[in-house]
Amino acid sequence: MSVARGVDRPLRRVAMISVHTSPLDRPGTGDAGGMNVYVVELARRLARRGVEVDVFTRATSSELEPLVHAEDGVRVQHVTAGPFEGLAKADLPAQLCAFAREVLRTEASHEPGWYDAVHSHYWLSGQVGALARDRWGVPLVHSMHTMAKVKNASLADGDTPEPAVRVIGEEQVVAAADLLIANTDDEARELVEHYDADPALVEVVAPGVDLDLFTPTDRDAARSRLGIAPDKHLLVFVGRIQPLKAPDVLVRAAAQMLQRDPGLAGRLEVAVVGGPSGSGLERPTALVELAADLGLGDAVRFVPPVERAGLVDWYAAADAVCVPSYNESFGLVAAEAQAVGTPVVAAAVGGLRSVVRHDESGLLVPGHDPADYAAALGRVIGEPGLRERLAAGAVRSAGRFSWEHTADATLAAYRSAARRRREDLLARAEMMGR
Ligand code: UDP
Repeated sequence: MSVARGVDRPLRRVAMISVHTSPLDRPGTGDAGGMNVYVVELARRLARRGVEVDVFTRATSSELEPLVHAEDGVRVQHVTAGPFEGLAKADLPAQLCAFAREVLRTEASHEPGWYDAVHSHYWLSGQVGALARDRWGVPLVHSMHTMAKVKNASLADGDTPEPAVRVIGEEQVVAAADLLIANTDDEARELVEHYDADPALVEVVAPGVDLDLFTPTDRDAARSRLGIAPDKHLLVFVGRIQPLKAPDVLVRAAAQMLQRDPGLAGRLEVAVVGGPSGSGLERPTALVELAADLGLGDAVRFVPPVERAGLVDWYAAADAVCVPSYNESFGLVAAEAQAVGTPVVAAAVGGLRSVVRHDESGLLVPGHDPADYAAALGRVIGEPGLRERLAAGAVRSAGRFSWEHTADATLAAYRSAARRRREDLLARAEMMGR
């Protein structure tokens, strides 16, 4: 590999690696969530800036075309690695060699120097990205999205800890990457503290919100489209149903609100939008059973995953959107709900602490005691003027995030990673020449 390769040339094509979740999947259940949205939104905007993106993802069905032109400048390459269906996430590491081999083969079918950078998402992809980077002589930029050590430090009761193979795999990727993209300052600090990342190699780039889609929307109009009466108090949870996201905290909080104020009976409603995911798949009906055990009956409605455009009405119809997660590296749902003009009651953890501005765009609740959520949600629906004030603050707060900014900052990160790589290679070549 020549020292000059992969540097000092325009950024034309990026290989984006997303092994375990396809950008073509609908988010809100299984492995498809915020990372899918992130990859799609970023790829789309990079393409609009003249950088072509190939997203490599594992084929999970024999029906999938090997190559899908998702939109101008964005292609999804379905990589055959392991059985199409039924491969548990825990078994994915065994397929990484096959996956990497296919990625290298695809690149080799083009003229030399086809990709100018690799951007990997989640540690599994980072393992593949590190290999590709070494072979192609281009920079590896990596986004963790979630981190096992951070997740294990704040597990929900009874949730399964992330295994050592993931922790070690993440450490390897952090050590290999030319540049790490963190969603927030907090995540950047965690990378340094828990994974020994070089602070100079960590760049903070906030994810965005599609502010054309998630625009301030009238609550009553949204309710009439959804068939929800205007006099209801509606609390909404949106996301993948798993212990980490703690939708049970909202359900328990609603039960306490009803117990304390019997006047709310028949007027308080909870909507849980999304499907089972992760360790939530082990007991997919647990939340339904909990609602029944708490005697909530019709007060909790379960809505299967909704396409993103359809979420606007669910966010807008809510008096408050509740995000009681044990951990979030960012929290797209909180940002999207605010963009629509709905206050967010969220756990004071991870990225939610920067996405939600306490007492300005929502309320941050320390810990996961349902009583505290009942109190905060009770304030939003009962305290005169509070919801209106927070709703106005929510729109302002969400205005800080845009995918356009994410794409510009990510492009700058690719360029600085390429510059740094060139400097490293030149320094090494000089040492060898001495
Ligand atoms: N989402 C969706 N439909 C659903 C539920 C969720 O499109 O029924 C999307 C939601 O709009 C958000 C993403 O899934 O963009 C979830 O991202 P978040 O950062 O909140 O959580 P993650 O899935 O990354 O843990």
